[in-house]
This record gives sequence, C-alpha cells and structure tokens, in this order.
Amino acid sequence: MLGRLLAAGHTHTLDPARADAIVVNTCSFITTAAEEAVDTILEMARFKEQGACSRLVVTGCLAQRYKDDPDLTKTLPEVDVFVGTGACDQIADVLENKTPAGLTLFPDPNARTFADLSVDRVLSNDPHAYIKVSEGCSRHCTYCIIPSLRGRQRSRPMEEICSEARSLVAKGVKEIILTAENTTDYGQDLSEDSGFHHVLEALSDQVARVNPDVWIRFLYTHPTSLTRKIVQAVKAHDNICHYYDVPIQHADTAILRRMGRPCTQKQLETLFFMIRDLDPDAVLRTTVITGFPGESEAAFHTLLDFIQEVQFDHLGVFAYSDAPDLPSHALGQHVPADVAELRHDTLMAAQAKISEQVNQKHVGKIYPVLVEENPEPGLFIGRTMFQAPEVDGVTFIYSEGLATGTFVQVKITDAFAYDIAGNAGAVCEPPLK
Ligand code: SF4
Repeated sequence: MLGRLLAAGHTHTLDPARADAIVVNTCSFITTAAEEAVDTILEMARFKEQGACSRLVVTGCLAQRYKDDPDLTKTLPEVDVFVGTGACDQIADVLENKTPAGLTLFPDPNARTFADLSVDRVLSNDPHAYIKVSEGCSRHCTYCIIPSLRGRQRSRPMEEICSEARSLVAKGVKEIILTAENTTDYGQDLSEDSGFHHVLEALSDQVARVNPDVWIRFLYTHPTSLTRKIVQAVKAHDNICHYYDVPIQHADTAILRRMGRPCTQKQLETLFFMIRDLDPDAVLRTTVITGFPGESEAAFHTLLDFIQEVQFDHLGVFAYSDAPDLPSHALGQHVPADVAELRHDTLMAAQAKISEQVNQKHVGKIYPVLVEENPEPGLFIGRTMFQAPEVDGVTFIYSEGLATGTFVQVKITDAFAYDIAGNAGAVCEPPLK
C-alpha cells in the first residue's frame, strides 16, 4: 500500500498529527489482536480533531471479518472508509477521495493476486525484508478465520518471488524471509511440479548471484507439507538458515482432529526426528494453543510432555481465543479461560527452562550475527541464524563500533532465558552457516 501511495505522488510521515490521511492496517486473528486494532483506530481518530487528518481509513482483516456486521460502521463512525483484504491495491483512490466517505470496499479476496512488481516496495530501515510466496489458505483449521478473510491458497509464480528477492537484495537487504499462511504448501494449487523446495533452490542460487552474503529464512511451515526434500534443500545451500518454524498447535491426536489438523502425535514425532536426523544443526520453533475446546487435563499433559521431549529451541504459546464465527465455537467442552491461561503459563515456565539450557550450549561459540540496532553506546542488538526477528530472542553485542546491516562474528559469553550476549570480533565475509 505504501508503494502504491508513493507511486501516486504522496509522501508518508510517521507523525500522525501531521498526516492528511491515516491508514490503520488491522489484524483480527485472535480477540486481543482485534482489540488492539480498535484501540489504535480510536487513538488515530483523535487526529481528525487535533491534527491535520481529514480521512481515516481502516484496511485489513478486522474490516474484512466484520464487513457484514452493521455494528462495524456504527461502532466506529470516525472511520471514513473500510477497505477489505481484496482491495488494498485501491488504496490511492481511497485516499484521494475517489472513494466517497461512508463507502466500504470488500471485493472477493480470492480475486486479488499479488503485489505489482512494477510498484516499488517501501522498506523500513531493517536489514531484513519479508516476501510472501502465496496468498490465502485452503486448509480448514477449526479455530482459524484466515481462509475466509484471505481466500483459498494462490501460489505466486516462482520467477516473481525470485525477481522480488533479487531486487530487495540489490537494495541492500541482508535477510530475505519467506512467509505465507503455509510456506511449505507452496505449489499445491499449481499444476506443474512446483514444490517449495524448488523455490528454495532457485532463490538460493539467484540471491547468491546478487550477494552471496544474504540469509534466506522461511517461516510458517505446515507439518504435513514439510518434506525431506525441503530439509535437504536447506542442508545443501549455504545461504538458507537451518531454521524450521513448524506450528503444531497441539500434540494430542484427538485434539488435533478437533482442530481440523490432519496429523497425529506420532507423525509429529516422526517429522521432528526426520528434521534433526537429516539436519543436525536444525533449530526448531513451534507455536501451540492451550485450552482448545475438549482439552482435558490428560490432553494438556500430552502436549506438555511433547514439548519437553522435543525440546524446541523456541516456543510460542497462545491461550485459545473463541469467537462466534469460528467452527471451533460450536464444539462442546469449552475450557474455562482461566484454565487455558494457567496451562499457557505452565507451558511457558517449562519452556523458559528448556530455552535457558539451549542457550547455555551457545556459550563459548562464535556465530555470525546480523547487526540490527544500536540502542546505546557500546551495545548493539543483532540476530544469529537461529533467531528470527520479532518472535525469538536476540543477541546483545558488546562493541564500541559496528554498522547496522552488517554481519559480525560474535563470541557468546552469556546466556539468558531467551537472549544471548557476547563480544564482537571481526566483520565476517562470508557470514553464513
Ligand atoms: S493452516 Fe494456518 S492459516 Fe490455514 S486454516 Fe490452519 S491455522 Fe489458519
């Protein structure tokens, strides 16, 4: 959207008081995300009174999710236009008042394809950048609203993904992060043999030709489509991080069935064994839900045991978030919210011990670290190959002078529950595995 606005001749400001128009791009995946979105909309609405703002626009999943709810426009009368997930390409028209206030734009999200490569992306100052390899999801997890907001899976042409990556790397990006609702489902909607491992192989070669010192990472895999070929592709290419983000959501087979997740505890065990067997340097991340309807004490302990058995390097835990428009809402045996929270806390406490042990193993080792921030003199913040931005811990680097956006060798001296720290050595080239 920013790229489209700049191409149309607009400029952007990070100061909402100075903005003529404000766009709030929203999430509504879980209740807390929707609440945060509404809080932000209300906060931005103040600038229609106290700032320059004459047009407040709400885009994204919150708008799309409640598009048929008459309360949406009644509850937020400050909003001039609501724009659904299928209409973000029309953002310039919306801001230029070609879309009258009070109108809502909700075309079928399935009809939207991909970002137009002729429109330059606007990048943050971060040295990493995300690329979506597909849009939408054709799966049916019962707790998830995403398929109805984003449409069925549409994989992006491989050449387009590579072209966007080459262009980002040419602009100085040092880490390309592939995302999708499920990256490893890539190609399932295409007719030819176009599995995700082909994307990794092609991307690795093409990115390396522009700059051999760039990391490639992929997030959000699905346990049923994370294949041996994908792990072999990671192993075979020096610039692909040995990082496997595999959201399992649960480990109890009966709960997985109620979640609409087509795998069993045994299959999950086999998958993680396969990854570690083929790639001993593998770093594993997962996310799970506690308090899903029907999760008995025994089912929760199956999950807890599984987490302790696999010893994930990183774990995200969410208490189940209910909503009337979710299929899981109609399932019986809802778990009280305080029980779901207690189980969340129990898992997090177990993981804190695991993470600290995992991090202790790094003490004394030297890793390439991508330097990202300089919060105070003598201290920098960066990430190793085994730390993804925003969701994992970071590496604190003690150094007098480093440049953000470069790789440096760091000797790890301290390990904490989620972060590690060490002293900077030489700037490294090549910085990879
Ligand atoms: S696979 Fe992911 S995006 Fe698709 S329905 Fe399940 S949780 Fe939602």
